Amino acid sequence: MTRERLYVFDTTLRDGAQTQGVDFSVEDKRQIALALDALGIDYIEGGWPGANPTDSAFFAEALPLAHARRVAFGMTKRAGRSAANDPGLAAVLDARADAACLVGKTWDFQVDVALEISLNENIDGIAQSIAAVAAKGREALFDAEHFFDGYRANPSYALDCLSAAHQAGARWLVLCDTNGGTLPENVYRIVCETRAAMPGAAFGIHAHNDTEQAVAVTLAAVRAGARQIQGTLNGLGERCGNANLCALIPTLLLKDPYASQFETGISHVQLVRMTATSRLLDEILNRAPNRHAAYVGPSAFAHKGGLHSSAVQKDPRTYEHVPPEAVGNMRRILVSDQAGRSSLLTRLAAAGIDLDARDARVSRLLEDVKQREFLGYAYDGAEASFELLARRALGKLPSFFDVESFRVIVERRHNAAGDLVTISEAVVKVAVDGETFHNVATGNGPVHALDGALRKDLGKYSQFLQDLRLVDYKVRILTSGTEAVTRVMVECADGRGARWSTVGVSANIVDASFEALTDAIRYKLLKDGAQAP
Ligand SMILES: [Zn+2]
Repeated sequence: MTRERLYVFDTTLRDGAQTQGVDFSVEDKRQIALALDALGIDYIEGGWPGANPTDSAFFAEALPLAHARRVAFGMTKRAGRSAANDPGLAAVLDARADAACLVGKTWDFQVDVALEISLNENIDGIAQSIAAVAAKGREALFDAEHFFDGYRANPSYALDCLSAAHQAGARWLVLCDTNGGTLPENVYRIVCETRAAMPGAAFGIHAHNDTEQAVAVTLAAVRAGARQIQGTLNGLGERCGNANLCALIPTLLLKDPYASQFETGISHVQLVRMTATSRLLDEILNRAPNRHAAYVGPSAFAHKGGLHSSAVQKDPRTYEHVPPEAVGNMRRILVSDQAGRSSLLTRLAAAGIDLDARDARVSRLLEDVKQREFLGYAYDGAEASFELLARRALGKLPSFFDVESFRVIVERRHNAAGDLVTISEAVVKVAVDGETFHNVATGNGPVHALDGALRKDLGKYSQFLQDLRLVDYKVRILTSGTEAVTRVMVECADGRGARWSTVGVSANIVDASFEALTDAIRYKLLKDGAQAP
């Protein structure tokens, strides 16, 4: 059976850039666009040329895309001007792009209230703007804003808007659930009715996630006949986000009926890049990955219960719906107070430590892990600290450095300008290879100052720490045993893209932080093969 082609349109750089707290630079956009191209995405919407300097700069430069088409986004022309005389539209038409996607109104209520023009004027605007794109020799896409709400309010007007775009030369009519509130069953019905009313037109779907169903809505539209799907990496987008391509793409490639019915521009070899592409976006946004994201999250193939983890080791299909390698993710057997001996051995093997199940050291380590978890340590999210603990217990951890003492002060005072400031200063005395270093550093808080002082000079190890960055710092107060303790989790990253987490526990928050920081540094030295004395 020949499979039908389904086109994937990424709007991370346009709709995703609308997310609160997201601000891409031109370089960020280039990097993401190249990663999307390598993944096999068909269309990459780069932004709105003319709307802001970053988007204009992104479209001014050449971009070496192997497969994807670069799309400029814009709006249909303003009322009262001709298409040729609208500077906003001109910026879109003049951008270096293979295609232009113009958004226009299809809901009569929006035409009345937001545009305040007549219904016919809006239709003329759509037709003239799309015709201008086609005349320029670009592929034209029409984003039918609020289409599902518009269709429910006034179906014949919504369809007239689509027909105008189609007749003017739009290759794709993209049906947008702009407010994200339409349910999959209604999307299915409306897409079926729209196709029946307009045979010969090609449809896309653009869904927002305001009921947590943007992926389901998109799949419903595909079943109803949409052949272009729009979405973003990690579901990035304003409010609750857009349809998440990191969930949609693996579903389309790995699950029936989609896998046997459709082909996309993405091969199974390219699908293996899915997890890395998702993490790249997190890295650029300086965000920790969503642990529980479908397919690509660090916990998507993590097994904790002793029963689950021993079954998964007999046959992964017992608790995994697809193989993690298919999307470039990996299986994790978590060490926890529920963990049995087999989980521990698997976790040790993953860290490159092979031990026999009958080895007495395995029982001792298991007891040690349980005891520490009772005290408040959590190794589920702190694999680096677990590996250090195991290596230390087995006598396989080099002694890189010894912290002899540390001191940290926090001072609040008026500075020379008369402003009230709070400054922290830390002194760390550390021994490396028989030599003692007295490191002093200041910071905006005690942990920042301690981190600076600890890393300031570690002798021959300093060279390994130059690309080390602290990317996340989490504090939790717990009641463990009989008293309240603080658990600190630190996540670090380095220039090679590695990320690792460590944990520290103490009644004192500074002490707990320091423990997690020293673990993070020891792990980096271990990972990079630094030679101990
Ligand atoms: Zn949108």
